[in-house]
Amino acid sequence: MDSLRPVRHIIIIGAGIGGLACALALSRELTPFVPDLKITVYERHDILSTSGGAINLTPVAQRHLAQLGVLDELNRMGPEGGAEVDAIELYSMRSGRSIGSIDFVDHRGNGYGGFKGRRVMRIVLSMAMMTIVERSPTVDIVFGKKVVNGEEINNKAVVHFEDGTKAIGDLVVGCDGVHSVVRSRWVDPDTPSQYTGMSFLQANIPSEDISSPIHFRSSALNVSRHGSMLTSFCDSDCKQIFAAAVVQFSQEDLNFYRLEAGQDWATQHQIRAALRNEMRDRFGKCAMPCIREMVNSKADWMLYPVYQVRPGGPWCTDRVILLGDAAHAMPPRDESAAYALDDAIIFARILAKHRSEPLTEVFDTYERLRRDKINYAFRESHRMWDRNRDMGILEGRLKEWMMPLYLRSYRDQREAAWEFDASKITIPSPAPSEDLVSLHSFLKEQTL
Ligand SMILES: Cc1cc2nc3c(=O)[nH]c(=O)nc-3n(C[C@H](O)[C@H](O)[C@H](O)COP(=O)(O)OP(=O)(O)OC[C@H]3O[C@@H](n4cnc5c(N)ncnc54)[C@H](O)[C@@H]3O)c2cc1C
Repeated sequence: MDSLRPVRHIIIIGAGIGGLACALALSRELTPFVPDLKITVYERHDILSTSGGAINLTPVAQRHLAQLGVLDELNRMGPEGGAEVDAIELYSMRSGRSIGSIDFVDHRGNGYGGFKGRRVMRIVLSMAMMTIVERSPTVDIVFGKKVVNGEEINNKAVVHFEDGTKAIGDLVVGCDGVHSVVRSRWVDPDTPSQYTGMSFLQANIPSEDISSPIHFRSSALNVSRHGSMLTSFCDSDCKQIFAAAVVQFSQEDLNFYRLEAGQDWATQHQIRAALRNEMRDRFGKCAMPCIREMVNSKADWMLYPVYQVRPGGPWCTDRVILLGDAAHAMPPRDESAAYALDDAIIFARILAKHRSEPLTEVFDTYERLRRDKINYAFRESHRMWDRNRDMGILEGRLKEWMMPLYLRSYRDQREAAWEFDASKITIPSPAPSEDLVSLHSFLKEQTL
């Protein structure tokens, strides 16, 4: 009988975008039905991580952040709350010419359903989400708690932490990112994270350090045959430029270029200089003078290897479910964070509607709604990322020529995707219980 009661204590692992969104969405959906609801988020870091540069939020991500109350908080933060993005303009680094754009506004300049794109520092987004979480009386966040394992005993989920302590809940939601321990030690040890062969090289550059004209309005993807480089303002005053190159890097090179705690000063200096050289070798001959300035500057380029999790494996056990990157990390497109937000909102709505059902039915309903969409998104992100691999002169030219065609042919699909609203999609009703079905058949027989 226990499994048929609504869950009261929910444990979320990871205070990233997915974990915090999940806490907010579950609190909002379940509070009216579960008076003694308790949601605890456990995060392995002692404080919110300041690394990770800036993130692009699509109209879908903005819509969902607005529903969770986070967008108002970002707007209240002033210029630091991020730069509005009408379009990501695409340029050829070889010729300097425009080759199209990914638009976040329609032909009248309006955002989709009222929402455009936004580029914001990851730490600023996390702070805005934390502010809303702190106002929620049902949610607690505990920092400095690294999960190492978990098990299910007597209809409860037990989470074990590195410090030897444990937490017990009715349901565990694993939002612990691409290298998820909840996945690898509990739900699905057979699906490891894999290096994609591609990495980001990122830096923040003050606009005042660049004297050449800036060729983009708010955001640009500058493509070449040696990888692409994103350049974007990440504050509404346009004082900071976030630059991120997407480049091919072998696994062996990764080991050489990795900055790690405990390395001596000389090694760190050598790695930083090598990364600067890498940027100059790849993009130093770019046709846009402002990009040449950026790559020739003293900026410290940080290396972020990109990992993925193939979405074919199981996402749940009886009392645990994986959401966000823990379930399906894909080479990041601008939509990746939006998928983590969608997961959180859809899962919370299903759990509220199926609150009297066993968790296994809740999980089944979630999978039926999500699996195909995620598989498709994963395949698409791969197709897109392949275009950033190093290529020869002819292939590079072909990529440039094909780009406008590709952008045009997927335009309708993109625009339809920007309209997606996880709070409006239909959640299937629970199947009637066997008792109800037999009562219904009995009454039918009596009337015949
Ligand atoms: C370089 C890069 C650039 C990106 N750019 C974009 C972009 O522009 N737009 C976009 O939409 N997406 C982007 N993405 C993807 C996006 O960041 C992810 O899809 C999104 O962060 C997923 O959220 P998540 O909560 O599932 O995981 P994460 O954000 O990774 O959060 C996981 C959390 O779990 C915690 N954790 C991990 N292990 C444990 C443990 N054992 N115990 C307790 N806590 C743990 C972590 O510390 C972290 O706080 C980018 C990704 C990368 C790598």
